[in-house]
Amino acid sequence: MPDRPAISALLIEDDPADAGLVRHALRSLGGRFALTHRMTLADGLEWAAANRCDIVLLDLTLPDSAGFDTIRRVREACPAMPVIVLTGHDDDDFAMQAVAAGTQDYLFKGNTDGQGLQRAIRYAVARKQLEEKLRQSEQRLQGIITLAQDAIVSVDQQMRIILFNPAAERMFGYAADEILGRPLAALLPERFRTGHDAHAGAYATGGPASLSLAHRRELAGLAKDGREFPVEISISKDIQQDGLLLTAMVRDITERKRFENDLRILATTDPLTGLANRRAFLAAAERELARVRRYGRLAAVLMFDIDHFKRINDTHGHAVGDGALQTVATTARDLLRTTDLIGRLGGEEFGVLLPETEPPAALEVAERLRAALAGAPVPLPSGGGFHLTASIGVAVCDPRDASVEQALGRADRALYRAKDAGRNRIECEIPILSAAS
Ligand code: GH3
Ligand code: MG
Ligand code: MG
Repeated sequence: MPDRPAISALLIEDDPADAGLVRHALRSLGGRFALTHRMTLADGLEWAAANRCDIVLLDLTLPDSAGFDTIRRVREACPAMPVIVLTGHDDDDFAMQAVAAGTQDYLFKGNTDGQGLQRAIRYAVARKQLEEKLRQSEQRLQGIITLAQDAIVSVDQQMRIILFNPAAERMFGYAADEILGRPLAALLPERFRTGHDAHAGAYATGGPASLSLAHRRELAGLAKDGREFPVEISISKDIQQDGLLLTAMVRDITERKRFENDLRILATTDPLTGLANRRAFLAAAERELARVRRYGRLAAVLMFDIDHFKRINDTHGHAVGDGALQTVATTARDLLRTTDLIGRLGGEEFGVLLPETEPPAALEVAERLRAALAGAPVPLPSGGGFHLTASIGVAVCDPRDASVEQALGRADRALYRAKDAGRNRIECEIPILSAAS
């Protein structure tokens, strides 16, 4: 086995007799310890600053320092150094206080043989290393908690807040001081409180599977100023000596929700008119058709197309054409009920779905729409305006339709009959009536 380097021990002791006893005890161990002796704290600390030193054996009553102040000064000068206090007091309380002050062990003077001293030194060095590791890991953890962008909130078994990091302070608007010790419910909107308590209770008493951090949940947070915001949380459970500890990582997802909403609007809305785009209209109409099938309800579908729109573009320019499309969209939307669906299917062609509407009522709506479109002036940038017309095809959703496109197909055929018949008029194709009669 390769020789381990001797442990370098520094003895700070002003009593030559006591120092002699320590020197003697260590010598009996045969070279495993290199001992340096200093008589004053100042000399000792000076040596420790300039030399490799693995442990300090410390007398507390020195010419230049006395009592626990001696410990404090050594700890200040060399925080990572293991310290064994040499005490004349045959007093356990005193010794425990010395350990509490940050030393690793204590020895009663005159009661130290070589083996005892060796054991104490090895133990003190090992203990200090563990303490250092713990301190470093604690420091890392504190760093993570302090710097985390997510709020970190821990509660005890009674759901009282016991940890509230700076991100949580920013997110919820409370200083840690004012929220620590208060119930977690303070951070939740009223309507979530009961459900959350039940959920957290089940989680707290649940089996090990519920320890998983993997599942995330969306919830709402409540800020101090009463503002609600969407959050995503993941929870860890830690069973500790003094009970259960639940820690939630809370992420404010306001931005993400806004972004998702923007994306949803972009994906479903026609930017020029603000109406549902073709895809969104078809999806909504498909849902309506499902209801028609399930409950045997009626729904009507209209398709309309602006007459001679190309001429409008050609005469007044594309921008005025765009304005005309907006006028048409606004007019149609104002006329229809909020339960009716309207979408821009493409170009100057629009679709309308009228839930719970019998064919006679559908024809009535179509006629009102035709008249409203013909009566709505399209403004011109030069002042004044002009009128346009549209042709409309009407069909009903048939429960036997495989898809809403079939009903739209019938409305489209009716629309083209209306175009052929001279425009600015309504035609319908209603197979239920013809099939049933
Ligand atoms: P019809 O009465 O038979 O429907 O004749 P129309 O001119 O309305 O029909 P056509 O399909 O020949 O022309 C449609 C025009 O609509 C052609 C196209 O340039 C124009 N258009 C399509 N989308 C837009 C748009 O977003 N803005 C503008 N300004 N014009 C558009
Ligand atoms: Mg047209
Ligand atoms: Mg067209």
